[in-house]
Amino acid sequence: MSADALPLLSAAELATLAGAERPGHCSVCAPLVCPGWESVPSTLDASVLQRVGTLRREEADEPTLIEHHPRGTHGWSIDAPIAPAFFPYNRCDVWTCKACARPFLRYTEYGGYYEDERIRQVNAALIDDSQP
Ligand SMILES: [Zn+2]
Repeated sequence: MSADALPLLSAAELATLAGAERPGHCSVCAPLVCPGWESVPSTLDASVLQRVGTLRREEADEPTLIEHHPRGTHGWSIDAPIAPAFFPYNRCDVWTCKACARPFLRYTEYGGYYEDERIRQVNAALIDDSQP
């Protein structure tokens, strides 16, 4: 599936996904569960996740680099808002665990001389539909 074919998910749709995960421990995605952003472990078996959508809007302009932290959090905070209209969520694709449907966000951070694949579990309580 090409990236173009991915459905663009709204904040509400992301929350619905988060509400659809099967509760309880899932041994399949347990190594990936992280309340805040983390680098994807090099040992990741990507086949346990499936890409179900994207938060990337296909716009002419570059998506904003502004982050959304109304409560004094920072990018790595485990309680930072998940705000799809802001960085880095506006660069994320949405993945779910094939076993328990737990949703995750993933994007690639591009530094000057490195690329870093990052992942964060979706916590519905942190989803924030604010606009820049
Ligand atoms: Zn799982």
